Amino acid sequence: MNWQKSQKVCQELHRRDQSVQSATGLNTFFLVYVRRPLELIIEPMNLVKPVTKYPNPAPIVHVKGSHREMGRQIGEQFRNLIQHSIDNAKAIVASDYENLQLDWEGAQIQARKYMPFAQERYPQYVDELVGMAEGANVNYSELTVVNGLEGVTSDSLHLTKCTSLAVNQLYTADGHVLAAHNEDWLPDDEPDIYVVHAKPDDEPEFIAMTYGGLLPNVGFNSEGLAQCCDSVYPSDSRIGIPRVIVSRAVLGARTIGQAIRHTLVPLRAAGYNHLIAHESGEMYNVEVSARHFDLLYGEEGCLAHTNNYLSQRMESIEAEPDELVHTRVRYFRAMHLLKENHKHTFKTLEAILQDHVNYPDSICNHSIFDEIPVDREKTIVSLVMDLTARKMVLAWGSPCTNSYHNYDMDL
Ligand SMILES: [Zn+2]
Repeated sequence: MNWQKSQKVCQELHRRDQSVQSATGLNTFFLVYVRRPLELIIEPMNLVKPVTKYPNPAPIVHVKGSHREMGRQIGEQFRNLIQHSIDNAKAIVASDYENLQLDWEGAQIQARKYMPFAQERYPQYVDELVGMAEGANVNYSELTVVNGLEGVTSDSLHLTKCTSLAVNQLYTADGHVLAAHNEDWLPDDEPDIYVVHAKPDDEPEFIAMTYGGLLPNVGFNSEGLAQCCDSVYPSDSRIGIPRVIVSRAVLGARTIGQAIRHTLVPLRAAGYNHLIAHESGEMYNVEVSARHFDLLYGEEGCLAHTNNYLSQRMESIEAEPDELVHTRVRYFRAMHLLKENHKHTFKTLEAILQDHVNYPDSICNHSIFDEIPVDREKTIVSLVMDLTARKMVLAWGSPCTNSYHNYDMDL
């Protein structure tokens, strides 16, 4: 990392602080810059690993009750995985110190600034995190860093991340509606994958994938709604409701309109692309930033999304679009493969998720060779959901190496 880049990240953190200061009247800027003496810089962890074979299905936890109780049940079940994800976040922040100018304490201070916004709008999901921290016996403040890592690092994780697909009755062999997703992320988080089957007291039942201490957001619910999330890179990010919490709220929606509305909640910190599909065959890419959005309707019966904005309106606020070439290649490759078959099934969508064109930056992503730890990524979990039958298949690790296993809502 060079000095200019470091300056740029500092300026971005300062800008966000000024925005929260004007929104809350609080002066938090002086708390952010916890400089660490150079001699204490920890060498980056070696995160490069060969493709791992997972012979067993990813573990599932069945939870129910209040949001706090559900969080506690997840925490108790996956204590080691949650602690491991905190250790990973700690290592990532340390490895990018020169760029971020944040140590772990500084990262926690930064993450805590986001939580009052979440508490005001979505106290139930903050309760889930509190419960998870209690159940796993980990520090809540450290858990907030895991859930706000993209914001805390001011998007300096240089991952391009994720491919999402959806097809409706026009494109499937049996008339069902299918949605699919490859989660591309830091290789070190791959061992922490699990599935949550939840029956909240006050919201629809859902099945979703997650890892470590992250709230679940990619999955489907008993109302026949599915969500897949893809990182995007808006230039208007600010301190606000973390992306993970905004997207968690989509799983609580009962209608497609409500699901879209949840992605656009005021005072959001930034945005994802939310691919939202309904069993009726209605499908949208909802492209979101902190202050703007656009809806792309799945008119033709098939949709894909990777990590660049597709809407012209949103493209105008995309930060550094020339850095996003591989994601554009993945997008066109995915659309090409979707459109050449009008009789898609679980198997044909799995084959698209295993595609290696443009390797290692392919749909089945293997970009683990970069010298800089925060630039390494790979597909750590892959899934296809049938919204009509309320079923999901999920492959843990690289989908080219590992089998898809069944997860049903009526388990
Ligand atoms: Zn592969």
